[in-house]
Amino acid sequence: MSMSPENVDVVVIGAGQAGLSAAYHLRRRGYTPPEERGERTFVVLDADAEPGGAWQHRWASLHMATVNGIHELPGFPVPPADPNAQARDVLPRYFAAYEDRFDLRVRRPVRVQAVRRVDADPQGRLLVETDHGSWSTRYVINATGTWTQPYWPYVAGRESFDGVQLHTHDYVSRDAFAGKRVVIVGGGVSATQLLNEIADVAADVFWVTRREPDWQRGEWTTASRIEALDGVEQRVREGLPPGSVISVTGDRWTPWVQSAQEKGVLVHHPMFTSIEPDGVRMPDGTLHAADVILWATGFRPAIAHLAPLGLRTPAGGLRVENGRSIDEPRLFLIGYGPSQSTIGANRAGRDAVRAIARDEAAEPVPVG
Ligand SMILES: Cc1cc2nc3c(=O)[nH]c(=O)nc-3n(C[C@H](O)[C@H](O)[C@H](O)COP(=O)(O)OP(=O)(O)OC[C@H]3O[C@@H](n4cnc5c(N)ncnc54)[C@H](O)[C@@H]3O)c2cc1C
Repeated sequence: MSMSPENVDVVVIGAGQAGLSAAYHLRRRGYTPPEERGERTFVVLDADAEPGGAWQHRWASLHMATVNGIHELPGFPVPPADPNAQARDVLPRYFAAYEDRFDLRVRRPVRVQAVRRVDADPQGRLLVETDHGSWSTRYVINATGTWTQPYWPYVAGRESFDGVQLHTHDYVSRDAFAGKRVVIVGGGVSATQLLNEIADVAADVFWVTRREPDWQRGEWTTASRIEALDGVEQRVREGLPPGSVISVTGDRWTPWVQSAQEKGVLVHHPMFTSIEPDGVRMPDGTLHAADVILWATGFRPAIAHLAPLGLRTPAGGLRVENGRSIDEPRLFLIGYGPSQSTIGANRAGRDAVRAIARDEAAEPVPVG
């Protein structure tokens, strides 16, 4: 089946917080879905079957009270939610209502497989190839998040383990850990949250981190937030992989960290050196017996489909400034690096659209 690509001005890839923010701002500035035949057009493509971005996949115990201050999408407040409601129910419903309200017409499930240049003209068009047709476009706003790229560091002997290994990506609930001896790997927010909840049912929890936690008990001030984001901003400008948020924010002393401490399980051990059938081998030579290894080792940007653009630096990242690729200015990366938070994603969506509109000198039009 060979179909000629559909022409649009902007393709937004991904309908999570970042992609929907971009779509909202495109609408505001008078861009329309192609079927409305506006002067300027956009389309949002999303690989998931349902609205909600990564929120629809997150584990059941992530409640509205335990998410870290999510930020609503632009122009439409999150309806008041019970703090005990599951984030994976509340937020996808909100995203669905949002798409309806602004008539964003997300196409799904449509998975982007490759983005490439149509020709050598730097002002020319980009071709977005998917499992459901292709689009020829002037700009791509990539908002694909990280959820689909769980990161598992390689440790010798990993394949030899007789127990179960899983990543937070595949965590469902603590029930699967009842009576088990569990090793939890990682120093981030998810690791401490899951340590605290699994400790209630497991026979043993053993927490390992690559580095010593550096607990930040003070208020998370605006100044410290800005400083942290500046660090990530600089990394992505230089084309380094964005790195984990923890590497710049330090380890926050959250209520679940406090709770884990009260249960006596907030005891961190150094990273093991290898994995054996019955457990993990510690640097001091002892074997720590385990039935389950839970890798809470984070996620990486989902950008494999951008490979044909050849933007990857030797350091393994893309050079991005203010959400725009330095080496391919027709490409924006939002929810990437410093904008990898709900508030950051909102702003990055707005800024990407502003930059495109500036390029095209499009006039803003009010929302209908
Ligand atoms: C467990 C967890 C908890 C978090 N909690 C918070 C929190 O409390 N507060 C906060 O600010 N941040 C939190 N974050 C960070 C969070 O990732 C961001 O805040 C934000 O939700 C991410 O939005 P996004 O739009 O960038 O990505 P996503 O929500 O991941 O959306 C990306 C979309 O792109 C689609 N997609 C991916 N690849 C393709 C492709 N090739 N083709 C087409 N579509 C594709 C996906 O289907 C998805 O719908 C959390 C992250 C994790 C992992």
